[in-house]
Amino acid sequence: MLSTLKTSILWRFLNETKAITTTTICVKNYQHRRRLNTTTRIFSDRSNIILMGSPGSGKSTVARILAKKLNKPSIDIDNDILEPMWGVKISEKLKEKGSKHFIEEEGKALMTVKAENSIISLTGSNPLHDEAMRYIANTGYVIFLDYPAKGILQRLHKMKIDRIVGQEIGTPLTDILEHRQMTYEQAYDIRILCEENESPESVSEKVIEALAVLEEDQGYVSTRQDKDSVSVQERTSLGEILLQGLAPDGGLYVPALQIPCLSKGEWSRLVNMSYRDRALRIMERLINPCDLHPSKLRLFLERAYNNETFSHEKIFPVRHLKDNHFLLELFHGPTASFKDAALQLMPQMFVDALRHNEFKTDSSRYIILVATSGDTGSAVLDGFRRHAEGSGVGVIVLFPEHGISEVQRLQMTAMSGGNVQVLGIDGDFDLCQGMVKRAFQDQDLASWLSNNGNFRLRYKNAANSITWGRLLPQIVFQVSGYLDLVEQKVISLGDEVDVCIPTGNFGNILGAFYAQAMGIPFRRLVCASNANNTLTEFINSGVYDIRSRQIQKTQSPAIDILKASNLERFIYHKSDRDSQLVRKCFKELEENQCFEVSGQLLEDIQKSLVGKWCSEAECVTTIKNCFETTGYLLDPHTAIAKFVADLVNDVDVPMIINATAHYSKFAPQVLRALGHKKDIKDKSMSELFDMAHKITDSPGMHSRLEECIKSSDISEKVLKPNYEDVERAIKIFSHKI
Ligand SMILES: *Cc1c(COP(=O)(O)O)cnc(C)c1O
Repeated sequence: MLSTLKTSILWRFLNETKAITTTTICVKNYQHRRRLNTTTRIFSDRSNIILMGSPGSGKSTVARILAKKLNKPSIDIDNDILEPMWGVKISEKLKEKGSKHFIEEEGKALMTVKAENSIISLTGSNPLHDEAMRYIANTGYVIFLDYPAKGILQRLHKMKIDRIVGQEIGTPLTDILEHRQMTYEQAYDIRILCEENESPESVSEKVIEALAVLEEDQGYVSTRQDKDSVSVQERTSLGEILLQGLAPDGGLYVPALQIPCLSKGEWSRLVNMSYRDRALRIMERLINPCDLHPSKLRLFLERAYNNETFSHEKIFPVRHLKDNHFLLELFHGPTASFKDAALQLMPQMFVDALRHNEFKTDSSRYIILVATSGDTGSAVLDGFRRHAEGSGVGVIVLFPEHGISEVQRLQMTAMSGGNVQVLGIDGDFDLCQGMVKRAFQDQDLASWLSNNGNFRLRYKNAANSITWGRLLPQIVFQVSGYLDLVEQKVISLGDEVDVCIPTGNFGNILGAFYAQAMGIPFRRLVCASNANNTLTEFINSGVYDIRSRQIQKTQSPAIDILKASNLERFIYHKSDRDSQLVRKCFKELEENQCFEVSGQLLEDIQKSLVGKWCSEAECVTTIKNCFETTGYLLDPHTAIAKFVADLVNDVDVPMIINATAHYSKFAPQVLRALGHKKDIKDKSMSELFDMAHKITDSPGMHSRLEECIKSSDISEKVLKPNYEDVERAIKIFSHKI
């Protein structure tokens, strides 16, 4: 709808070369913010800049300033259109007509506006008229001046305003404004998050900057792609990179523009908001509205983070553990690990991208094949089952029957059905991976699928942890964890905190790094590893060496990883986007299983990262000690982080420890750590859950996981490790989508 139209508008002005106006942009008020070139081209297109916002938000003043700065005509709907047209004051017209008719007439009047390349300042009630709003929105960008309600009220009282729709029948101003806010929330392309008492001058600068960002935005680039090789015409959209996963040159996608930085005043607006509201405001700064319109993003967020998907009303709550340690509980989602944060949202974006990029030209349906061990499988299954059913996308997860934990296996098999299916393979992870690769190369299978329902197979990169679609949501919970500490008054906004994260593929900690880039004052990012401690070695020496290493099986299997793929993004940013260096490092890693960084780069890396590790025995003691001193039961991954947090602790600075999984996901391990040995030997998983349940309610039992385990069909069939069986299963599955 709106967004496709907007895309064409954006394309027009991106492709237009001649600039009508140049302007100097002053950024001195926002030292944090992205520095623009001193002269930046603004809008060489016919499209309007349409200002929307509550009465009292200063639209008219901002419009006047913008008109002057950008050398464009400005139109104030109240003063330039309505009053001359009606020949009476707005307040009189409102009294005469009553709200309903007033809005109607106002809407009709708006639809007579034929402006181009102008600054249009809407009335506060224009957005209440759907048709008129659609009309005007199609002529340019709707910019929402989102002022804090408190400030608006003060201003309106001071101005003794008497011409607001609803006022004439005595509706309290607070109610009117609340309702308005909801209407505006549905109708904008770009939100300007205004600070308390922010001046119109400053707001107008933000508008110009937001538009400049749109104009300059070249979408996404690969970490291995030379900066100069990117041209405007080749803009890679969010949809394209979601579908692609890995870049064709083997690199990872990152935004071409610098990560936006929010000011303290902007962050303070988010402190008392719900998780979803925070998420929307953070993500809309990271996503071009032409790629994913905020109205759609809002909808996706509502579906992803709600009472049904998450069992905690705060979604990812922060709780005090002991002294300066706080736990960011990331396990209240449907599959009890932090992977749910990304996988409740990403499939919706993925399906949307398919619709806009590929379904547009063909009617294919898709089967995504994933080989997985660990927590990703169940999170992918739940995400695609819940959010992609009926969309023409199905998922098959192949897992090694003996390479995953009992709980993970039960969880996955319980979820099979509808548009998702699991195939247990009597072999190891590499074998599953091999089957997936073979299926993609299998021409006979491809033509069979395309003749029997027009199916295509898509590679597993679509869902694994290197896709930008999984990183985005992980930035949000890191920010939110910090804001929660502010909300709980543990810290004041701007105070520094440390974060400690059990790290495998470096995806979660990269979210914290981006949060830091956005202005969240994380002092140290503490990277916690288990015995597979390549990252610890790298951070401390600059050498990433896996030549003599083999994966060690530990009690924290989700971080049993040797190649932390997302590290590539981190090195890219830390080296100031030196794609040549990135290419060199990761080529060496592929060819020689080793690379090294040194000098300034290593120093910079060590300035932001601290790397330590925790042995198997230490993990056990940590679970036990923490339980004895606090009553809180940690899962083995969180225990790794807790141990490392103790190693590097600074009592004066709060430490946010990421609790990445619920302990019950690893019930046998944690029970053993608490000293249960013989008495758990022959017990079923369901009995182990009951045992753990009796021991503690801190944190509470994960009821979704418990249900899942108890209902799981244990008699699930395991396939022999031969390809023909897998191929047959794919064909049968294709009939079900
Ligand atoms: C995936 C996972 C991790 C590791 O996260 P990365 O983004 O790969 O660093 C840590 N803990 C748990 C429980 C996980 O499932």
